[in-house]
Amino acid sequence: MKNKISLKWKIAKYFLIFGAVMLGVMFVFQMKFLEPMYEEEKISSIKEVAEEIIDELDEDTEDLMSEILEESMRTDTCIVVASTSDGMFEGQRFSNVGCELYRMRPDELMDMAEKAKESPSGENLTRRDKGMHDGHNADFTSIIYTKVVEKDGQEYVVMVNGGITPINATVSTLRRQLVIISLILMLAIVVFTLLLYRGIGRPLIRINEAAKTLPKGEYTAQEGSGQYREADELNSTLTQAAEDIRKADKAKRDLIANVSHDLRTPLTMISGYGEMMRDLPEEKTDENLDVIIQESKRLTHLVNDLLDLSRIQGQSIVLNCTDFDISALLEKEMKKFDVYRLQEGYEIEADIPSGIHVYADEARIAQVFNNFMNNAVSYCGENRHIIVRMTQENGKARIRVQDFGEGIAAEDLPNIWDRYYKVDKTHVRPVSGSGIGLAIVKEILELHHAAYGVESTLHKGSTFWFELPLSS
Ligand code: ADP
Repeated sequence: MKNKISLKWKIAKYFLIFGAVMLGVMFVFQMKFLEPMYEEEKISSIKEVAEEIIDELDEDTEDLMSEILEESMRTDTCIVVASTSDGMFEGQRFSNVGCELYRMRPDELMDMAEKAKESPSGENLTRRDKGMHDGHNADFTSIIYTKVVEKDGQEYVVMVNGGITPINATVSTLRRQLVIISLILMLAIVVFTLLLYRGIGRPLIRINEAAKTLPKGEYTAQEGSGQYREADELNSTLTQAAEDIRKADKAKRDLIANVSHDLRTPLTMISGYGEMMRDLPEEKTDENLDVIIQESKRLTHLVNDLLDLSRIQGQSIVLNCTDFDISALLEKEMKKFDVYRLQEGYEIEADIPSGIHVYADEARIAQVFNNFMNNAVSYCGENRHIIVRMTQENGKARIRVQDFGEGIAAEDLPNIWDRYYKVDKTHVRPVSGSGIGLAIVKEILELHHAAYGVESTLHKGSTFWFELPLSS
């Protein structure tokens, strides 16, 4: 396996990238955009002041004057409102005596007014950079916004002047802050990495370590390993897997024991009868030969079952589906059980409508039916009553095999379709039964995508059923 980077370093890596991006964004904003943004803000507030004054132009002189004073004090700007005629300023109403506009020559002001007039929007923005401001040695920038408007046939010039204080000091403060923020961020990254690692990485490592014992079915749940749902789920999935492995292991061991027992019984009989017939010539009877033949058949049956199951599960079986008469098939298969009816007092009832055709693998369906019948015969107990019924429902033929024997406990019901599962764990029946019949049935029916199931009540009996599509 490729040596991959550990989770701890991966978390740290992503956090570092995140931190670097954050710092980068902050740096760009503080160093590059702060000044232009600040300037833009200032200019737009100067323009707003001009608009406020323009709105008040039709007020009488006194009101306008007090508005100008109020605005200039509120926004720390210098405001000039003048009406022009013949290229000259007249009726100037100055505010903030002593402000920059006040100190400028009328022709300078007129110059800016002319520029504003010439522009399509009637406005002009002039920047004046100054080395000195009020005795402070700083790069002070002065902005003069001029707007020419016409109101009641009279042309007005509104000029607003505001200063953009240099933000060098702010920038260097921010720069220092950025260094501190970077350090805090780094520390936070280390702390978060460790916390996340404790939350995600450690439980994973613990579970991984414990999971190495899984093949032996020894995994034990890692208590408190999950501070988050996924770790808990992984934990319980592995616990379940270990439980399943243990069960499968035990079932396999049981199977070997059962199969050995099942193989040994007929083998003992065959060799015993064989020896007896060899040593005692008068024992060479047809009945004794029949015992040998029956026991050989039982052996063949068992070995076939085992082979079948492994073939079906290895997916080397391909269904050979045809359209066939299932009524005829069931009648034919039931004949095999006549011997139980005639010799052992079984009552086998059949309710099978004739001429029903389905689309399926005939040989495999015969195998399914035989398995149900064999089980019914084996487990019907003293009652010995079996009913085979076929009905047609929703375009399907439903085949039921019902017995009134020992039944199956509710807790065993989900397991009987599993390989090697036997309710009768003590294996006392002399009848061959290795717990694989229903597993084969299940595989065959699932290959057909057919519905199947069982209804059973303990001591009352069971009904095993399956459905096949009617051929049209
Ligand atoms: P087996 O060869 O042991 O019969 P199966 O796979 O056919 O194996 O059946 C699995 C188990 O299901 C049986 O051991 C038995 O306990 C139970 N079982 C199957 N059919 C019946 C039935 N008709 N009545 C009661 N129990 C049944």
